Amino acid sequence: MTSSSPPSLLDLKSLLPEELRTLVRQLGQEEYRAGQLLSWIHGKGVEEVDQMSNLSRAFREQLKARATLSRLREVERQLSPGGQAIKFLFELPGGERVESVLILDGKRRTACLSSQVGCPLDCKFCATGRMGFIANLKAAQIVDQLLQVGRALLAERGERVSNVVMMGMGEPLLNYEELVRALRLMRLEHGPAIGGRKVTVSTAGYVPGIRRLAREDLNLGLAISLNATTDELRDQLMPINRKYKIAELLDAAAEYFSLRGRRVTFEYVLLEGVTDADEDALRLAELTRGVPCKLNLIPYNELAEDTPFRRPPADRIARFRQLLENHTPMAVTLRESRGRDIDAACGQLYQAQERRRRAAPAG
Ligand code: SF4
Repeated sequence: MTSSSPPSLLDLKSLLPEELRTLVRQLGQEEYRAGQLLSWIHGKGVEEVDQMSNLSRAFREQLKARATLSRLREVERQLSPGGQAIKFLFELPGGERVESVLILDGKRRTACLSSQVGCPLDCKFCATGRMGFIANLKAAQIVDQLLQVGRALLAERGERVSNVVMMGMGEPLLNYEELVRALRLMRLEHGPAIGGRKVTVSTAGYVPGIRRLAREDLNLGLAISLNATTDELRDQLMPINRKYKIAELLDAAAEYFSLRGRRVTFEYVLLEGVTDADEDALRLAELTRGVPCKLNLIPYNELAEDTPFRRPPADRIARFRQLLENHTPMAVTLRESRGRDIDAACGQLYQAQERRRRAAPAG
Protein backbone atom coordinates (compact mmCIF):
# COMPACT_ATOMS: atom_id res chain seq x y z
CA MET A 1 0.00 0.00 0.00
CA THR A 2 1.34 3.42 -0.85
CA SER A 3 0.55 6.63 0.99
CA SER A 4 0.76 10.04 -0.62
CA SER A 5 1.58 13.07 1.53
CA PRO A 6 -1.08 15.79 1.57
CA PRO A 7 -0.33 18.81 -0.64
CA SER A 8 1.40 21.53 1.35
CA LEU A 9 -0.73 24.52 2.20
CA LEU A 10 0.06 28.04 1.04
CA ASP A 11 0.55 30.71 3.67
CA LEU A 12 -1.82 33.56 2.84
CA LYS A 13 0.34 36.02 4.78
CA SER A 14 3.25 35.44 2.38
CA LEU A 15 1.36 35.94 -0.86
CA LEU A 16 1.87 39.03 -3.01
CA PRO A 17 -1.20 40.64 -4.64
CA GLU A 18 -0.69 38.94 -8.01
CA GLU A 19 -0.34 35.56 -6.29
CA LEU A 20 -3.53 36.12 -4.31
CA ARG A 21 -5.33 37.10 -7.50
CA THR A 22 -4.20 33.85 -9.10
CA LEU A 23 -5.40 31.91 -6.08
CA VAL A 24 -8.85 33.50 -6.00
CA ARG A 25 -9.23 32.95 -9.76
CA GLN A 26 -8.32 29.30 -9.30
CA LEU A 27 -11.03 29.08 -6.67
CA GLY A 28 -13.58 30.48 -9.13
CA GLN A 29 -13.86 33.88 -7.41
CA GLU A 30 -13.68 37.42 -8.74
CA GLU A 31 -10.27 39.10 -8.62
CA TYR A 32 -11.41 41.91 -6.30
CA ARG A 33 -11.55 39.27 -3.56
CA ALA A 34 -7.75 39.39 -3.50
CA GLY A 35 -7.95 43.01 -2.29
CA GLN A 36 -10.35 41.97 0.44
CA LEU A 37 -7.97 39.24 1.55
CA LEU A 38 -5.05 41.69 1.66
CA SER A 39 -7.07 44.08 3.82
CA TRP A 40 -8.03 41.36 6.25
CA ILE A 41 -4.51 39.97 6.51
CA HIS A 42 -2.29 43.06 6.38
CA GLY A 43 -4.73 45.82 7.31
CA LYS A 44 -6.94 44.36 10.02
CA GLY A 45 -4.47 41.62 10.95
CA VAL A 46 -7.03 38.85 11.47
CA GLU A 47 -5.80 35.58 12.96
CA GLU A 48 -8.23 33.21 11.25
CA VAL A 49 -9.75 32.90 7.79
CA ASP A 50 -13.14 32.59 9.51
CA GLN A 51 -12.82 36.15 10.81
CA MET A 52 -13.02 37.45 7.22
CA SER A 53 -16.68 38.25 7.58
CA ASN A 54 -17.36 39.65 4.10
CA LEU A 55 -16.34 36.38 2.44
CA SER A 56 -18.92 33.67 1.96
CA ARG A 57 -18.67 30.61 4.12
CA ALA A 58 -18.14 28.45 1.03
CA PHE A 59 -15.20 30.63 -0.10
CA ARG A 60 -13.66 30.55 3.38
CA GLU A 61 -13.86 26.76 3.33
CA GLN A 62 -12.20 26.70 -0.11
CA LEU A 63 -9.45 28.96 1.18
CA LYS A 64 -8.84 26.80 4.25
CA ALA A 65 -8.49 23.73 2.06
CA ARG A 66 -5.67 25.41 0.12
CA ALA A 67 -3.99 27.75 2.59
CA THR A 68 -3.26 28.69 6.19
CA LEU A 69 -2.74 32.01 7.92
CA SER A 70 0.44 31.71 9.96
CA ARG A 71 1.08 33.64 13.14
CA LEU A 72 3.98 34.03 15.55
CA ARG A 73 3.25 33.49 19.21
CA GLU A 74 4.27 36.35 21.48
CA VAL A 75 6.04 34.92 24.52
CA GLU A 76 7.49 37.99 26.21
CA ARG A 77 7.22 41.76 26.11
CA GLN A 78 9.41 44.24 27.97
CA LEU A 79 8.98 47.99 28.27
CA SER A 80 12.17 49.89 29.04
CA PRO A 81 12.05 51.80 32.32
CA GLY A 82 12.60 55.03 30.40
CA GLY A 83 9.68 54.09 28.15
CA GLN A 84 11.67 54.52 24.93
CA ALA A 85 11.61 50.95 23.70
CA ILE A 86 9.34 47.94 23.84
CA LYS A 87 10.89 44.60 23.10
CA PHE A 88 8.93 41.58 21.89
CA LEU A 89 9.99 37.95 21.85
CA PHE A 90 8.09 35.71 19.40
CA GLU A 91 8.01 31.95 19.08
CA LEU A 92 7.92 30.13 15.73
CA PRO A 93 5.98 26.87 15.23
CA GLY A 94 9.15 24.81 15.75
CA GLY A 95 9.84 26.50 19.09
CA GLU A 96 12.59 28.82 17.80
CA ARG A 97 12.43 32.40 19.00
CA VAL A 98 13.05 35.80 17.44
CA GLU A 99 12.82 39.30 18.75
CA SER A 100 11.55 42.63 17.55
CA VAL A 101 11.90 46.05 19.15
CA LEU A 102 9.63 49.04 18.91
CA ILE A 103 11.64 52.23 19.34
CA LEU A 104 9.78 55.35 20.43
CA ASP A 105 11.81 58.33 19.35
CA GLY A 106 10.13 61.73 19.14
CA LYS A 107 7.30 61.27 16.66
CA ARG A 108 8.94 58.24 15.10
CA ARG A 109 7.65 54.79 15.89
CA THR A 110 10.25 52.44 14.46
CA ALA A 111 9.86 48.67 14.35
CA CYS A 112 13.21 46.87 14.38
CA LEU A 113 12.60 43.43 12.88
CA SER A 114 14.53 40.15 12.67
CA SER A 115 15.25 38.29 9.43
CA GLN A 116 16.81 35.09 10.76
CA VAL A 117 16.81 33.00 13.93
CA GLY A 118 20.39 33.42 15.08
CA CYS A 119 22.95 34.50 12.49
CA PRO A 120 25.76 32.76 10.61
CA LEU A 121 28.10 35.76 10.50
CA ASP A 122 29.56 35.56 14.00
CA CYS A 123 30.43 39.23 14.54
CA LYS A 124 32.41 39.18 17.75
CA PHE A 125 30.56 41.99 19.55
CA CYS A 126 27.09 40.59 18.86
CA ALA A 127 24.92 38.39 21.06
CA THR A 128 23.02 36.97 18.09
CA GLY A 129 26.29 35.99 16.42
CA ARG A 130 27.09 33.78 19.39
CA MET A 131 23.90 31.81 18.86
CA GLY A 132 25.02 30.62 15.43
CA PHE A 133 22.60 30.23 12.55
CA ILE A 134 19.35 28.44 13.32
CA ALA A 135 16.88 29.30 10.54
CA ASN A 136 15.80 31.79 7.93
CA LEU A 137 12.49 33.47 8.61
CA LYS A 138 9.72 33.23 6.05
CA ALA A 139 8.37 36.46 4.57
CA ALA A 140 5.16 35.93 6.55
CA GLN A 141 7.18 35.73 9.77
CA ILE A 142 9.00 38.97 9.01
CA VAL A 143 5.72 40.69 8.14
CA ASP A 144 3.97 39.25 11.18
CA GLN A 145 6.50 40.87 13.52
CA LEU A 146 5.47 44.22 12.09
CA LEU A 147 1.76 43.41 12.22
CA GLN A 148 1.92 42.30 15.85
CA VAL A 149 4.13 45.16 17.00
CA GLY A 150 1.83 47.54 15.12
CA ARG A 151 -1.28 46.11 16.77
CA ALA A 152 0.28 46.44 20.22
CA LEU A 153 1.22 50.06 19.53
CA LEU A 154 -2.27 50.87 18.29
CA ALA A 155 -3.96 49.16 21.23
CA GLU A 156 -1.74 50.68 23.92
CA ARG A 157 -1.10 54.18 22.55
CA GLY A 158 -3.40 54.69 19.62
CA GLU A 159 -0.34 55.17 17.37
CA ARG A 160 0.97 53.60 14.20
CA VAL A 161 4.40 52.33 13.22
CA SER A 162 6.08 54.95 11.02
CA ASN A 163 9.39 53.28 10.12
CA VAL A 164 10.92 49.84 9.76
CA VAL A 165 14.56 48.88 10.24
CA MET A 166 15.82 45.41 9.45
CA MET A 167 18.35 45.44 12.28
CA GLY A 168 17.14 42.69 14.55
CA MET A 169 18.50 39.16 14.60
CA GLY A 170 20.21 37.92 11.46
CA GLU A 171 21.82 39.21 8.28
CA PRO A 172 18.85 40.25 6.11
CA LEU A 173 20.72 39.99 2.81
CA LEU A 174 21.44 36.30 3.46
CA ASN A 175 17.69 35.71 3.46
CA TYR A 176 17.20 37.79 0.36
CA GLU A 177 14.10 36.35 -1.33
CA GLU A 178 12.02 36.27 1.84
CA LEU A 179 13.27 39.71 2.89
CA VAL A 180 12.32 41.37 -0.39
CA ARG A 181 8.96 39.61 -0.46
CA ALA A 182 8.28 40.84 3.10
CA LEU A 183 9.29 44.40 2.21
CA ARG A 184 6.94 44.34 -0.78
CA LEU A 185 4.08 43.19 1.46
CA MET A 186 4.78 45.84 4.11
CA ARG A 187 4.40 48.65 1.63
CA LEU A 188 1.00 47.60 0.27
CA GLU A 189 -1.66 50.23 0.75
CA HIS A 190 -3.97 47.55 2.21
CA GLY A 191 -1.59 47.07 5.14
CA PRO A 192 0.95 49.05 7.18
CA ALA A 193 1.93 50.88 3.95
CA ILE A 194 5.53 51.35 5.04
CA GLY A 195 7.97 51.45 2.15
CA GLY A 196 10.81 53.27 0.42
CA ARG A 197 12.24 56.04 2.55
CA LYS A 198 10.66 54.65 5.70
CA VAL A 199 12.54 51.35 5.53
CA THR A 200 16.21 50.70 6.22
CA VAL A 201 17.98 47.40 5.65
CA SER A 202 21.10 46.89 7.73
CA THR A 203 23.88 44.61 6.54
CA ALA A 204 27.18 43.43 7.97
CA GLY A 205 28.62 43.77 4.48
CA TYR A 206 27.32 40.97 2.28
CA VAL A 207 28.45 42.59 -0.96
CA PRO A 208 26.48 40.46 -3.49
CA GLY A 209 23.30 41.26 -1.55
CA ILE A 210 24.05 45.01 -1.58
CA ARG A 211 24.59 44.96 -5.34
CA ARG A 212 21.39 43.01 -5.88
CA LEU A 213 19.36 45.29 -3.61
CA ALA A 214 20.66 48.30 -5.54
CA ARG A 215 18.86 46.87 -8.57
CA GLU A 216 15.46 46.44 -6.90
CA ASP A 217 12.76 49.06 -7.41
CA LEU A 218 12.29 49.38 -3.64
CA ASN A 219 14.42 52.49 -2.94
CA LEU A 220 15.26 51.40 0.57
CA GLY A 221 17.65 53.00 2.98
CA LEU A 222 20.81 50.94 3.41
CA ALA A 223 22.91 50.84 6.57
CA ILE A 224 26.27 49.09 6.53
CA SER A 225 27.91 47.98 9.79
CA LEU A 226 31.50 48.98 9.13
CA ASN A 227 32.91 48.97 12.67
CA ALA A 228 36.60 48.91 11.75
CA THR A 229 38.91 50.94 9.54
CA THR A 230 41.48 48.28 8.63
CA ASP A 231 40.93 44.88 7.04
CA GLU A 232 43.15 43.38 9.70
CA LEU A 233 40.84 44.43 12.54
CA ARG A 234 37.63 43.94 10.58
CA ASP A 235 38.70 40.37 9.69
CA GLN A 236 38.77 39.69 13.43
CA LEU A 237 35.65 41.56 14.49
CA MET A 238 33.47 40.63 11.53
CA PRO A 239 34.57 37.41 9.83
CA ILE A 240 32.55 38.26 6.70
CA ASN A 241 35.36 40.72 5.97
CA ARG A 242 37.65 37.80 5.15
CA LYS A 243 35.51 37.33 2.05
CA TYR A 244 34.41 40.88 1.26
CA LYS A 245 37.11 43.41 2.11
CA ILE A 246 36.51 47.02 3.10
CA ALA A 247 37.44 48.38 -0.35
CA GLU A 248 34.90 46.09 -2.02
CA LEU A 249 32.26 47.07 0.52
CA LEU A 250 32.85 50.77 -0.09
CA ASP A 251 32.61 50.15 -3.80
CA ALA A 252 29.25 48.41 -3.39
CA ALA A 253 28.04 51.30 -1.20
CA ALA A 254 29.04 53.80 -3.89
CA GLU A 255 27.17 51.74 -6.46
CA TYR A 256 24.11 51.68 -4.23
CA PHE A 257 24.17 55.47 -4.19
CA SER A 258 24.68 55.78 -7.91
CA LEU A 259 21.83 53.38 -8.77
CA ARG A 260 19.36 54.39 -6.08
CA GLY A 261 20.33 57.98 -5.33
CA ARG A 262 20.30 57.29 -1.62
CA ARG A 263 23.16 57.90 0.75
CA VAL A 264 24.27 54.83 2.61
CA THR A 265 24.66 55.03 6.39
CA PHE A 266 27.85 53.55 7.79
CA GLU A 267 27.37 52.30 11.32
CA TYR A 268 30.45 52.32 13.49
CA VAL A 269 30.43 50.66 16.92
CA LEU A 270 32.76 52.27 19.44
CA LEU A 271 34.57 49.60 21.45
CA GLU A 272 36.96 50.85 24.11
CA GLY A 273 40.58 50.31 23.12
CA VAL A 274 39.56 48.47 19.93
CA THR A 275 37.83 50.87 17.52
CA ASP A 276 37.92 54.20 19.36
CA ALA A 277 41.47 55.51 18.70
CA ASP A 278 42.15 58.90 17.14
CA GLU A 279 43.69 57.12 14.12
CA ASP A 280 40.44 55.21 13.64
CA ALA A 281 38.47 58.46 13.48
CA LEU A 282 40.88 59.85 10.89
CA ARG A 283 40.88 56.64 8.83
CA LEU A 284 37.08 56.47 8.96
CA ALA A 285 36.88 59.98 7.53
CA GLU A 286 39.41 59.11 4.84
CA LEU A 287 37.88 55.77 3.85
CA THR A 288 34.40 57.14 3.39
CA ARG A 289 35.40 60.35 1.63
CA GLY A 290 34.46 59.05 -1.82
CA VAL A 291 31.06 57.58 -0.87
CA PRO A 292 28.07 59.88 -0.34
CA CYS A 293 27.06 58.68 3.11
CA LYS A 294 26.11 59.39 6.69
CA LEU A 295 28.27 58.20 9.58
CA ASN A 296 26.55 56.87 12.64
CA LEU A 297 28.57 56.22 15.80
CA ILE A 298 27.17 53.67 18.24
CA PRO A 299 28.81 53.38 21.66
CA TYR A 300 28.86 49.68 22.48
CA ASN A 301 25.85 48.35 24.35
CA GLU A 302 27.54 46.20 26.98
CA LEU A 303 26.17 42.75 27.56
CA ALA A 304 25.61 41.71 31.13
CA GLU A 305 28.00 38.80 30.92
CA ASP A 306 31.15 37.41 29.33
CA THR A 307 32.04 39.96 26.68
CA PRO A 308 35.59 41.17 26.20
CA PHE A 309 34.33 44.53 24.93
CA ARG A 310 33.58 47.70 26.82
CA ARG A 311 31.86 50.94 26.03
CA PRO A 312 34.38 53.82 25.83
CA PRO A 313 34.13 56.55 28.48
CA ALA A 314 32.07 59.61 27.57
CA ASP A 315 35.07 61.89 26.93
CA ARG A 316 36.58 59.37 24.48
CA ILE A 317 33.29 59.10 22.62
CA ALA A 318 33.07 62.90 22.42
CA ARG A 319 36.66 63.21 21.18
CA PHE A 320 36.17 60.54 18.51
CA ARG A 321 33.08 62.30 17.27
CA GLN A 322 34.76 65.69 17.22
CA LEU A 323 37.79 64.40 15.34
CA LEU A 324 35.60 62.70 12.79
CA GLU A 325 33.46 65.79 12.30
CA ASN A 326 36.58 67.89 11.81
CA HIS A 327 37.81 65.63 9.00
CA THR A 328 34.72 64.61 7.07
CA PRO A 329 32.18 66.55 5.03
CA MET A 330 29.62 63.81 5.79
CA ALA A 331 26.93 64.11 8.47
CA VAL A 332 27.96 62.43 11.73
CA THR A 333 25.44 61.22 14.29
CA LEU A 334 25.76 59.48 17.62
CA ARG A 335 23.12 56.88 18.37
CA GLU A 336 22.54 55.82 21.91
CA SER A 337 20.92 52.43 22.08
CA ARG A 338 17.39 53.18 23.26
CA GLY A 339 17.04 49.89 24.95
CA ARG A 340 20.23 49.82 26.98
CA ASP A 341 18.11 49.19 30.02
CA ILE A 342 16.10 46.31 28.56
CA ASP A 343 18.52 43.90 26.91
CA ALA A 344 18.05 45.68 23.62
CA ALA A 345 21.11 44.80 21.63
CA CYS A 346 20.16 42.22 19.05
CA GLY A 347 19.94 38.79 20.58
CA GLN A 348 20.01 39.94 24.18
CA LEU A 349 16.35 39.47 25.06
CA TYR A 350 16.49 36.03 23.50
CA GLN A 351 19.53 35.15 25.55
CA ALA A 352 18.12 36.55 28.76
CA GLN A 353 14.97 34.52 28.23
CA GLU A 354 16.94 31.36 27.46
CA ARG A 355 18.93 31.83 30.68
CA ARG A 356 15.71 32.12 32.65
CA ARG A 357 14.32 29.02 30.91
CA ARG A 358 17.43 27.03 31.71
CA ALA A 359 17.47 28.30 35.29
CA ALA A 360 13.80 27.43 35.89
CA PRO A 361 13.20 24.12 37.71
CA ALA A 362 12.02 21.37 35.35
CA GLY A 363 8.40 20.24 35.47
S1 SF4 B 1 25.86 42.00 14.06
FE1 SF4 B 1 24.24 41.37 12.64
S2 SF4 B 1 25.35 40.23 11.04
FE2 SF4 B 1 26.75 40.36 12.78
S3 SF4 B 1 26.39 38.43 13.93
FE3 SF4 B 1 25.04 40.04 14.79
S4 SF4 B 1 23.09 39.76 13.73
FE4 SF4 B 1 24.68 38.72 12.51
